[in-house]
Amino acid sequence: MLDYHLHLWPHGQRDEAPTVERVAAYCHAAGEAGVSEVALTEHLFRFAQADRLLRGFWDTEPDPALAASMRRYWDDHARADLDAYVSCVLAAKEAGLPVVLGLEVDYYAGRMDEVAGLLAGYPFDVLLGSVHWLGTWRFDDLGDPVSMGQWSARDVDAVWEDYTRAMEELAATGACDVLAHPDLVKVAGHRPVAPEECWDRLVEAARASGMAAEVSSAGWRKPVAEAYPAPGLLARFAAAGIPLTTASDAHDLPDVADRSAELAGLLEAHGVRTLRAYRGRRGVDVAARTPAVRP
Ligand SMILES: [Zn+2]
Ligand SMILES: [Zn+2]
Repeated sequence: MLDYHLHLWPHGQRDEAPTVERVAAYCHAAGEAGVSEVALTEHLFRFAQADRLLRGFWDTEPDPALAASMRRYWDDHARADLDAYVSCVLAAKEAGLPVVLGLEVDYYAGRMDEVAGLLAGYPFDVLLGSVHWLGTWRFDDLGDPVSMGQWSARDVDAVWEDYTRAMEELAATGACDVLAHPDLVKVAGHRPVAPEECWDRLVEAARASGMAAEVSSAGWRKPVAEAYPAPGLLARFAAAGIPLTTASDAHDLPDVADRSAELAGLLEAHGVRTLRAYRGRRGVDVAARTPAVRP
């Protein structure tokens, strides 16, 4: 098993300096759960380098409350040093820890060439592509009343359509390798009557771009109380032969490799025997199940 989606510090905690010791603790916890390799995938928006490149992308937002909310969120987050993060993970790799260097990258419409230009300067193994916001609306920010209020102001079918289109556009840019939490739009529990069309489009986006799709336990820790992707979407990914990764999306040590046994069960139920790992942004297939760790 893999845990290919990990953050080194929780949201709301600022300016954490990454250390090899913390990466080692993540690797140890993952190993105890039968996970053979992890990817550190910090949010791009947590780094000052992203601030310099993308600051003000909310300026075209017509809703002043949403624009102000995004500016506050950005100011809280875009503070760490990408160079220090990369150096730390590379040092952990060099020390022999089973870790690869990744990043979780949001979709910035019309700006992905610039984002790719920034990221090309670093030796990433894997880049996750995520849609956490539509325009500037952070539809998954469960603790933000401005963001959550939008769910009652918008039509759920339209939100799913917007989300699916953003994922299609992100995939088409070729900037990233893995579609992270592919049906994150369900996070707060709002679902269309018929999600199948969106599911089919997400599968086609992965197939056409060559991206893998992530199978994540994080949804079990959210109001939707279901893994990403939903059973119907996972069945479609498996049937189409889309490469898969497994992930916890932990933001702190206790959630590392969360429910990896349940994820292994989901893969087995769909006849999935290999997972997609990455080296220098090239996919490598590895066995989905690793032998049990000796006590
Ligand atoms: Zn995410
Ligand atoms: Zn994440």
